[in-house]
Amino acid sequence: MKRSGGLFLAIAAGFWISVFSAFAWAQSVNVVTSVIPAAYIFEELGGARVNVTALVPPGASPHMFEPVPSDIRKLARARYFVNIGGGLDAWSERLLAAAPKGIEVVTLIDTPNLNLLEAAEHHHDHHGEEKAAMKDEHHGHGEEKVAMKDEHHGHGEEKVAQESGEEHGAFDPHFWLDPIRVRDAVVPAVTQRLIAADPAGKDYYEKRRQDFHRRLTALDQRVRSELAKAKVRKYIAFHDAWVYFAERYGLEEVAVVQEFAGEEPTPKEVAKLVRDARAEGLGAMLVEPQLSPRVAQTISKEFGGRTVVVDPLGDPGDAARDSYEKLLQFNARSFGKALQSSVN
Ligand SMILES: [Zn+2]
Repeated sequence: MKRSGGLFLAIAAGFWISVFSAFAWAQSVNVVTSVIPAAYIFEELGGARVNVTALVPPGASPHMFEPVPSDIRKLARARYFVNIGGGLDAWSERLLAAAPKGIEVVTLIDTPNLNLLEAAEHHHDHHGEEKAAMKDEHHGHGEEKVAMKDEHHGHGEEKVAQESGEEHGAFDPHFWLDPIRVRDAVVPAVTQRLIAADPAGKDYYEKRRQDFHRRLTALDQRVRSELAKAKVRKYIAFHDAWVYFAERYGLEEVAVVQEFAGEEPTPKEVAKLVRDARAEGLGAMLVEPQLSPRVAQTISKEFGGRTVVVDPLGDPGDAARDSYEKLLQFNARSFGKALQSSVN
C-alpha cells in the first residue's frame, strides 16, 4: 500500500515523494534485525506499525555471514538495529561502525531475566572462528564486503573476536529457541522498545503482547506434547544451537557434528560421531538448512540412520517456517521424528 502510494505521488509530482516518505516514516517503526527469528518476534509484537527487515537471508548462517554495503543502506532509516549478541552475529559490530549515527542498537542477549546458559567450550575456539571466516570469503557475494579494505580487515576481525570473547562469549547465544525465555524475557523487552519508539501505539502493542504471550504458552504445550512421545531423549546436534531447547524439553545433546558452525569435523571426529550414534542407538542425524549436510549424510550412512532437518533460523518464504510459532513447531516435529527413530 505505502509503496504504490509513494509511486503514484512520485509520478504525479516529484517533490511530494519526500513529503510522503516523511509521513510513512513517522507512521511506522523501522527495524533491521541480524537474523530472521528476531524479525519474527518484532513482527508479532509490532504488527502493522513496524517495518522489519532481516539481514541474514534464508539459508545462510549468521555465524558465517559478512555484511555488504547494501546492508548498510538498509540501516538508513532504521530506528533499531537488533542483533543477538554472544558472538553469534559479531559481524554486526563492523556493520554498525559504518552505519549512520543515531541508530539504536538492541542486543537481545543483554535482555534481563534470560537466564543464559554457558556456551560449550568449543565456542571459544578462536582457530575455528578464523577458519569459518576464511571459508566465507569463497562464498562470493556480488558486492564488496564491508570493512574489507586491506589495512582494516585483519584488525577488525581480531577486535570483534576479542570483544565478543570479553563481553558475551561465555554464554550460548541460541536462547530464542526456547519459547518460554522468549515469552518471559524477550517479549516484554521488545514491547517496551516499540512503545518507546512509538508511544501513540502503546495500547496496540500491549494488546499484541498479551496475545503473543498466550500463543507462546500454547506453543510450549504443543512442543511438549510433540516431544513426549519419544522415549529416547538423546540427539547429536549439527551445530550447537539447541541447548536452550534441550534444557526446556528434557533432551540431551550427545555430541555436535560441527563444533563451530561451518567447520567440518576431522575424519577422527567423524569416526567418533559414528561410534557415539551407535552407542546411543540413534536412528537419525540432525541437519540444518544453513550448513552443508554432506558430512551428516556420510555419518548416518555409516551407522544406518537417516537425516532429519531442524532449523534454528526459519524462512519467511516457506509456509512451514514463516513465523516464530511455526518454526518452533517445525523443530518439535523434526526432533520428535529423530528421537522416535532411535532404538534404545
Ligand atoms: Zn548457531
